[in-house]
Amino acid sequence: MPELPEIFCRAREMNEYLTGRTIASVEVKQPKCLNVPVETFMEGLRGNTLGPTTYHGKWLLTELTQGHLLVNLGMGGELLLVDHDVMPEKWRVRIDFCDGKTFAVNFWWFGSTHYVAPGALAQHQQSAKLGPNALDLTADQFQAILAGRRGRIKSFLLDQSNLAGIGNAYIHDILFRAGIHPSRSISTLGDRERHELFLSIRTEFERSIEKGAAQYELNLLGGRGEFGVADLLVGYREGKPCPTCAAEILKVKTGSTTSYICPKCQVL
Ligand SMILES: [Zn+2]
Repeated sequence: MPELPEIFCRAREMNEYLTGRTIASVEVKQPKCLNVPVETFMEGLRGNTLGPTTYHGKWLLTELTQGHLLVNLGMGGELLLVDHDVMPEKWRVRIDFCDGKTFAVNFWWFGSTHYVAPGALAQHQQSAKLGPNALDLTADQFQAILAGRRGRIKSFLLDQSNLAGIGNAYIHDILFRAGIHPSRSISTLGDRERHELFLSIRTEFERSIEKGAAQYELNLLGGRGEFGVADLLVGYREGKPCPTCAAEILKVKTGSTTSYICPKCQVL
C-alpha cells in the first residue's frame, strides 16, 4: 500500500515526465472510480495540458489548463507512462496524449480518478478532510498538532485527519527511531520525545524517498524503487536483532493492530 514516500516519488515523476503534455482522448474501463459521469470526465480532461503535480495524503493532484486531475491509488496500483500501442495488460483509465504517449492508471483493488472543475478543489472533500502532509510540517507545527491530544501515539499517527502520509509499512521504524513504544499515551510524551518523533518521521521518509521509495511499487517508467526489506530497522523483522542494542525484535499486539518493536529501546 503506498504511503508518503511512494506518493511523493510518483508526484516527482509526474512533474518530470507528464508536465506539458496535452490530452487528446480519455478511455475509462471502471466508471466506479470516477467522481463524475464518464462523459463529464472525458469532456473535462480532453484538450487540457498538464501542469505541475502536488500530493496530499494518497492523492496526486495535477493542475490542468482548466481544473484538476486527481488520482488516488488506494491499496496500490500502477501509474505508467507508455506508448499508445504498448499498453500494460491491466488498466482502468487511460489518458492518451497528443504526442503518442499514454498515462495508464491501474488499481490493484479500488482507487479513484477524479476530475475537479476550475475553482472547486477546496470542495473536494476526500482530499480536503486530510491533515497536513507529514513531511510539510515544521517542528513547531508538529508540536502544535500533538498539544493537548490524548490516546495512543500509534493510532494518532495513523489517523490521516491528524497528519497525512504515515501508514502501516513505515510506522514501526518511525516509532523505533524515536525510541517510543506504539502504545504510549500522547500525554506521557515529553517535549524531547515529541521532537525525536518529528525528526524520525523526516529521517525515515527521506531515507525511502532517496531510494525512489518502496520496491514493491512500480514507478512511472515501469522501474522499481530501491527501498526494500533490508532497509527496515525493526518493521517485519521479528526474531532478528535490534540494530541499536541487539535485543530480539518482537511482534506484539497493540490494540487492534500489530507492531514490531525492540523491547529494550521502546519501553512502555
Ligand atoms: Zn534495541
